[in-house]
Amino acid sequence: MRPMEAGRLHVIAGPMFAGKTEELLRRVHRARLAGLVVEVIGHRLDSRGGTDRLSTHTGRSTPARMLERAEQLRLPVRAEGPDSSDGPDFPLTPDIIAIDEAQFFGPSLVPAIEAQLDAGIQVEVAGLCVTYDGGPFEPLPTLMAMAEEVVKLTAVCTICGADAAFHMRLIADGASALEATAAQVGGIESYQARCRRHRRDAARSGAG
Ligand SMILES: [Zn+2]
Repeated sequence: MRPMEAGRLHVIAGPMFAGKTEELLRRVHRARLAGLVVEVIGHRLDSRGGTDRLSTHTGRSTPARMLERAEQLRLPVRAEGPDSSDGPDFPLTPDIIAIDEAQFFGPSLVPAIEAQLDAGIQVEVAGLCVTYDGGPFEPLPTLMAMAEEVVKLTAVCTICGADAAFHMRLIADGASALEATAAQVGGIESYQARCRRHRRDAARSGAG
């Protein structure tokens, strides 16, 4: 068997409201136009598109496998040779795997992606690289370090309209941990995109 090339890792990172899923699905659409087989992976915590679709705020949508854990990524079968058609239920080993909301999967996503790359599969990953309090949000920073290509998107600051590399959580100090967790999953109105200056100003005044 001819030795195959390893896959390439492309990362789309940024804060909330930066259009990461939109960019991911744009790439999926282009690859499919080119005749490539793309498997789209989401996380069960992302309920925007229901249990079997990924959707964006602008209405783009595609069928997706919504997983709970990175270990549920299918083991690549391409490396096993001609018998790979006997493999899992997915009819074709994908040329590309596109993973959205990568931050939900945690650090175990890194070895799961490496296995795909080793098997010659291209991996496109989108996710939050920054937490609501401005820190690195793993595993995105690690994936960005490993990637052949990184695209860092910004949102638009809700205060001044400048490029926003951050998002802030707007939640009352008295909110319970459960309310905070629920907001983190579905509550877009609880977060705002902020530029560096307006994140700093809000942090100084004690908000967020
Ligand atoms: Zn601003």
